[in-house]
Amino acid sequence: MLIPKTASWVVRKIIASRELVLQGQVADGTLQTILKSALIGNGFAIRKMYLTLLPQHPKVEWKSLSLQASIHPRYKFILWLALHQRLATVDRLMKLGIQVPPDCAFCGLYRETFAHLFFECAITRQMWYRLCVWMGYRRNIADWNTEVKWACKLAKKRAGLAEISSCAFAMIVDAIWREWNKLRFQNSSLLAAKVLKDIVIQLNIRGQANRRWYDALQGLNAYP
Ligand SMILES: [Zn+2]
Repeated sequence: MLIPKTASWVVRKIIASRELVLQGQVADGTLQTILKSALIGNGFAIRKMYLTLLPQHPKVEWKSLSLQASIHPRYKFILWLALHQRLATVDRLMKLGIQVPPDCAFCGLYRETFAHLFFECAITRQMWYRLCVWMGYRRNIADWNTEVKWACKLAKKRAGLAEISSCAFAMIVDAIWREWNKLRFQNSSLLAAKVLKDIVIQLNIRGQANRRWYDALQGLNAYP
């Protein structure tokens, strides 16, 4: 459709956006049918139009965890990389041609892979286990996918302890990755008790400003 030269810039933009709606659109049908789908009664709802044009991607099963508002962005970033299995573990570094010792930075007993670090390795598994026990869960720690599923289930709940648990999961993933970097590149040694204590302190600090968290944390007054 030609844009009249005499039209104001607002009208010109509106007419130009017709092409935008049709180009790269994800909704089916002609412009008329798309516009009809955005009607509520006789009125046009821009919200409905926006939702109609949004690409429909398959839902990932860890959606609830990645959208959990209580998880601080600092932890979310590493969690997000881990959920995509994009952390630069030894197996990935090797694929990129970067030579590093292949054994696990924590236990030194097995070849290091993502699956080993989270949580096949006896040391990282024990750290997560201790944190789970601190939160009142006596459970066997399984592989990465099972643990993610467990954390996702809790991330959907609004109860204080459930929120704390999904946050603790994000925090242990971040902490394992931070410690991995220190072990690999700074020759430091792992102080697991200190790592866990720091997580608990962070959770308690956040609990000071959140009534549900505060109540749930009252029963968890020892260190893992
Ligand atoms: Zn290991």
